[in-house]
Amino acid sequence: MKDLINGWRATGVQEKLHILIQGTLIILFFALTEWMLDRFDEQVDRAAEVRAEETANGLINGMNMLMLTGQISDPENRRMLLSKMSQSRGIIELRIVRGRAVVEQFGPGLPEEAPVDDMDREVLSSGRTLFRELTDENGRPALRVVVPFIAKQDFRGTNCMLCHITEAGSVNGAASVTIDLSEELAQLAEIEDWMWIGHAALQVLLLVVITMFVRMVIVRNITRPIGNLQQAMAEIQRDMNLSRRADVDTNNPDIGEMAKNFNLLVEKLEHANERLQLFVKMFDNSGEAIVITDAQLRIIAVNPAFYTITQYTEEEVIGKNPNILRSGRQDEKFYQAMWRAINETGMWQGEIWNRRKSGEIYAEWLSIGTVKNAHDEIINYIALFSDITKRKEAEARIEHLAHYDSLTHLPNRALFSDRLRHALLAGARHNKKSALLFLDLDKFKSVNDTMGHLAGDMLLQSVADRLRSCVRESDTICRQGGDEFMILLAEVGVAADAETVARKIIAAMSEPHRIGDRDLVITFSIGISICPDDAADDETLIKHADDAMYAAKESGRNNYKFFA
Ligand code: GH3
Ligand code: MG
Repeated sequence: MKDLINGWRATGVQEKLHILIQGTLIILFFALTEWMLDRFDEQVDRAAEVRAEETANGLINGMNMLMLTGQISDPENRRMLLSKMSQSRGIIELRIVRGRAVVEQFGPGLPEEAPVDDMDREVLSSGRTLFRELTDENGRPALRVVVPFIAKQDFRGTNCMLCHITEAGSVNGAASVTIDLSEELAQLAEIEDWMWIGHAALQVLLLVVITMFVRMVIVRNITRPIGNLQQAMAEIQRDMNLSRRADVDTNNPDIGEMAKNFNLLVEKLEHANERLQLFVKMFDNSGEAIVITDAQLRIIAVNPAFYTITQYTEEEVIGKNPNILRSGRQDEKFYQAMWRAINETGMWQGEIWNRRKSGEIYAEWLSIGTVKNAHDEIINYIALFSDITKRKEAEARIEHLAHYDSLTHLPNRALFSDRLRHALLAGARHNKKSALLFLDLDKFKSVNDTMGHLAGDMLLQSVADRLRSCVRESDTICRQGGDEFMILLAEVGVAADAETVARKIIAAMSEPHRIGDRDLVITFSIGISICPDDAADDETLIKHADDAMYAAKESGRNNYKFFA
């Protein structure tokens, strides 16, 4: 049964239509043929009955004739009549049967005139004609009829009552006739055969006609229009030509509608494709590197800018985790905070140091976002980043320019003042002293005048280096401007510490500076002020150190003076 259902499902529309139409027609024809054969059968039966009954009536009429001519009482006459009539075509047996009243009146008659079976007796007792189909001893199909002789005043031109002592309506006897049905049945069988042959021929003819009709209908309405649609689909699929449209067949509303819907779909695809192309262009031409990963953080796509920044090709990174770019400059805590933000808010952005394939570390501005599916599950991560190393360098340069002297790279006055204020506050908190040394080169103008401004600059740089070598890392040196410098000695123990540094500087300055091909010696006049002894605020402290420096100048230069 299951095989049958599966077989039916696998059958094509055309075959299904065939089976249904042809099957219905076969059933109809069978029923019709059977019905017609039944009608024929009935007809033949009726004709046989009529023939048998008429023969029986003929026998009865013959008997009447014998009676009218007074010859009936001679049994030989009765025998002769029967034998004559038996010679008619198709007669198997003819008998007459005597009724009870006749036997009582005229005796039993011939032995063969006694009733022989139930059929005879039933007709004699009921007075009704009976038919019975049977097969004779030679195997021939036959029909037997038993017709009663009913006593009447007027019985087929005779008056039964004249001879018979009987009542009107009583049964005097019966005629039993058996006729051969072979001929009728043979005819019927022949008709049946021809009908079946005709039926089969008609079925074959119908099969051919229906096949052609079904084919024509299917080809016209389904196969051809679907073929056109299919061709358009195949072309669009093969050439990815989304501007192509399928022909809409208005003669076939169903398939025309299908083609219309297909065209709408292609139109949507075309629009989607245009957008996609736009995104692909953006992806490819973006100056920012773009990395797309799956939910397991395996890289599935990178754009050309990714290669420009990281030097990794697409083939080298597909399937890998983006942590191949890690520089190691950020600790685990940084990454944990980053992933927490991504998982909680869906995005993170910030600066991060990564490593190029060459090993070079660079700064990038990184944005990471997530893509979720309908079930709110993350299916992709998208990271965009740009190389901000140059910007950071520029920022650092600007920062340096704002806070450092471009010639000596020492902190400038602004940065120094800031540090000085902090130091004074810290010193006050810790109850520690700070010393400020104000230095001015002696007779520097003459260097410029005799050797040129450039040599003067070189000397200033050399002097700055030498100052650096005289103080601790924690002390701050500043170029205040021109040939003036300041040194902050934060949290010194006693004023003598400042004096030590001043002496050290003066001693260091006794060594000549190599400028070009000449050795130059230049000295400092140094003024010292102590916080909080001389002043508590930075400006006063600087002013006092400046004053002390002038005192040192006046007392002959190349020496130091405390503010007094
Ligand atoms: P004094 O001993 O009195 O200090 O004499 P001085 O010649 O050093 O005079 P002063 O300190 O007043 O002059 C500083 C000179 O430094 C003035 C200027 O020509 C020179 N100068 C200032 N800034 C620069 C600079 O950036 N480069 C060079 N080469 N010279 C500078
Ligand atoms: Mg000077």
